[in-house]
Amino acid sequence: MSDYRFFQPPPRLLLGPGPSMVDPQVYLAMAAPIVGHTDPAFFGVLQDVAALLRIPFGTSNDFTLALSGTGTAGMEAAVVNFVERGTKIAVFNNGYFSDRLIDMAERQGAEVVKLVKPWGEVYGDEEARAFIEREKPEVVAFVHAETSTGALQSPKAICAAAHEVGALVIADCVTSLGGMPIDLDANGIDIAYSGTQKCLSAPPGLAPVSLSPLALERLRARKTKSVSWYLDLKLIDEYWGASHRYHHTTPINMFYALREALRLIDVEGLQARFDRHKLNHRAFVAGVEALGMTMHVAPEHRLWTLNTPVLPEGVSDVELRKRLLHDYGIEVLGGFGPLAGKVLRVGLMGASSSRNSVLLLLSALETSLHALGHRGERGAVEAAETIYNEA
Ligand SMILES: *Cc1c(COP(=O)(O)O)cnc(C)c1O
Repeated sequence: MSDYRFFQPPPRLLLGPGPSMVDPQVYLAMAAPIVGHTDPAFFGVLQDVAALLRIPFGTSNDFTLALSGTGTAGMEAAVVNFVERGTKIAVFNNGYFSDRLIDMAERQGAEVVKLVKPWGEVYGDEEARAFIEREKPEVVAFVHAETSTGALQSPKAICAAAHEVGALVIADCVTSLGGMPIDLDANGIDIAYSGTQKCLSAPPGLAPVSLSPLALERLRARKTKSVSWYLDLKLIDEYWGASHRYHHTTPINMFYALREALRLIDVEGLQARFDRHKLNHRAFVAGVEALGMTMHVAPEHRLWTLNTPVLPEGVSDVELRKRLLHDYGIEVLGGFGPLAGKVLRVGLMGASSSRNSVLLLLSALETSLHALGHRGERGAVEAAETIYNEA
């Protein structure tokens, strides 16, 4: 017999770009015994998940479900089902996840055109419209909440311009679903995907997807088969739909988890949840600014869910994060790509977005920065408290 023991994870406060903290009730839901993936009781779970997902998505889309796989599976499903060889796709390219979308579209043999901006910037209505009118693509893709930069892209003008040229719109909502308003229907987003481990606060493993009636019509009219069998939304629709045709064995406990996470959102109330995310974001920003740090993204384009404070001159992101993890059990991540070594990526998503988390992190950040020789101000916690007291 070998001496492997039961794995007990170290206690962590997860304040990185995901996964975020999971509510204890979600863990409880996951521990329930599995039933079969064709059990009528399980189809009840799927039905609840579909209904509850429409709330944070802000949609009445019939086709709303969750795929087996993480957020990237949602992204790949959007691409393989709506982009074929030769399809012209226009991508707003201002961060890592739009890079990934481009890579996927190129693998499909699509004709990809992009509008490139520095990481952390977003697109104004006029330039977005001009790009789409000039290129006349069949599909447009953008990242609503860019986790690599902390910037929020407004969807409205992109969607309106895309529809004028007959294009479908793909929106990456991985870091906004459950933390910031998406309003799929009001904005006119056709294909939205997300993941469970960010603002929904369930473990990684499922990818919520919602399709507008127009996207569904295009999907059904498609003549060629999607190159991915596993992510073929037509086949998956048949399993979720009335015929319940077997496609693959769904990860049962993940659906228990997602159902409970979504139920908790419904209990909290969507507006209250958004207000909470916004308040904790504001308190965190006040705290880091009190330390003399700045934010990478302009105030009006900042995500509430993912913050990118700029590291003080001479402070090593690796050393700082090592301290936070080792001394405080707090996980935050650094920047990468053009932002490597320049920013921290602090997630305040779902259950991680709390007054407790913000105050603990600010306190740990202040102490650790000073220990690393940063000669900035103090008073991060007090500055955050001021925001909370005014709210
Ligand atoms: C995390 C993330 C993804 C990928 O999700 P995974 O769950 O890591 O597969 C895609 N897009 C954005 C914006 C993300 O933040």
